[in-house]
Amino acid sequence: MNQATLGRAITFEGAGLHTGVDVRMRIRPAEADRGIIFVRTDLAESPEIPVRLDYLIGTERETTLGRGEVTVHTVEHILSALGGLGIDNAIIDINGPEVPILDGSAAPFVEEIRKVGIKSLKSPRRIFRVREPVWLEDNDKQIIILPSTDFRVSYTIHYPESGIHSQFYSLSVTAESFEKELAGARTFCTKDEVEELRGAGLIKGGSLENAIVFDEKGVLPQCRLRYPDEPVRHKILDLIGDLMFLGCQVKGHVIVIRGGHALNVRMARKLDELKQKTVAHYHRSLSVTNEQLDIEAIKRILPHRYPFLLVDRILSIEPGKKIVGLKNVTGNEHFFQGHFPQYPIMPGVLLIEAMAQVGGVMLLSGSNMPGRLVFFMGLDNVKFRKPVVPGDQVIFEVEAVKIRSRTGLMRGEAYVEGTLVAEADLKFSIPEEG
Ligand SMILES: [Zn+2]
Repeated sequence: MNQATLGRAITFEGAGLHTGVDVRMRIRPAEADRGIIFVRTDLAESPEIPVRLDYLIGTERETTLGRGEVTVHTVEHILSALGGLGIDNAIIDINGPEVPILDGSAAPFVEEIRKVGIKSLKSPRRIFRVREPVWLEDNDKQIIILPSTDFRVSYTIHYPESGIHSQFYSLSVTAESFEKELAGARTFCTKDEVEELRGAGLIKGGSLENAIVFDEKGVLPQCRLRYPDEPVRHKILDLIGDLMFLGCQVKGHVIVIRGGHALNVRMARKLDELKQKTVAHYHRSLSVTNEQLDIEAIKRILPHRYPFLLVDRILSIEPGKKIVGLKNVTGNEHFFQGHFPQYPIMPGVLLIEAMAQVGGVMLLSGSNMPGRLVFFMGLDNVKFRKPVVPGDQVIFEVEAVKIRSRTGLMRGEAYVEGTLVAEADLKFSIPEEG
């Protein structure tokens, strides 16, 4: 699956829910790996705020982005529309402090995006695949993510004191299901909250045009529900928007019981920490070394070529001691055509081959032997712990255990997002030339 952006720019005008300020917002296409970026065009030098956890500052009633003095409020519904439709990259020019609330849902955004279409880009989509259960609790609120082959959300809300009562909704989120089942679900609140928020100087742009209001008997008669369980669907819409701060798509089954923005964002931070684990790991080793090697540099060292060159990048080398290499596993790998079309997993022996190639770079790079062949003499203690699938970034760490002039032993480990997926002891020899 590749990254995507919008076909053309689209424009929205309207008031923000909390500030009531009228703004104009234009969403433009962006190239791969830019992510989603807000630009405050009304301020001097048009400051940019990328949608990243570093710039997430508020989660009280809505989600606020901030960088220094510059803020953008209530970003979750537009982010949900982009995330729900699978748009990874876009620039959002906005000439005021808050995203227009429009009808309180993501439907107006989805409608305009559909008109201009979604454009596929050349780079593979960034995906965070949950491999072990992850959970967080805050008193009576829980959020749990279980491994799953799709992005699924099961959400329970429980407001016994209000006419909303308990609602449950569960779905596999795709562009189609998002558009049909979630995009139209509007913001909701209780009558008491309306008074409270007005008193606090908020929801200046709020009205029955853009929010559903409940009292203890149920939904106010002037509000017509779009779905009988519209509130719980809106909570899922908000969650999808909040998870966009991770900067990649989540594969997993997200189960939420009475959650909200604060817990969503804590979960996004927790996933980000897991994602960083291996990255942090090789950044540490980077500090003691000198160089990274790109694919062209690797080709000057290894004799392997497509379709059998299985290393994309060397992240760090300590010659004769340790090397860290990277392989981006995409859906286009030749072996997925037959292994298996219905359930593509990277063959375990190819993981070991990739590990050996990374080790080979360490052996050959510092030597006067670039382009030489390195032969496997034996493998020990091989374990395949988790399947590797399209979208995974595999990090190979290979350490020299014992190296003689033409034979030796290396220890290799392969990680995906911090989880060990394979390991082996590799015995090798470098034959004499000729
Ligand atoms: Zn919302």
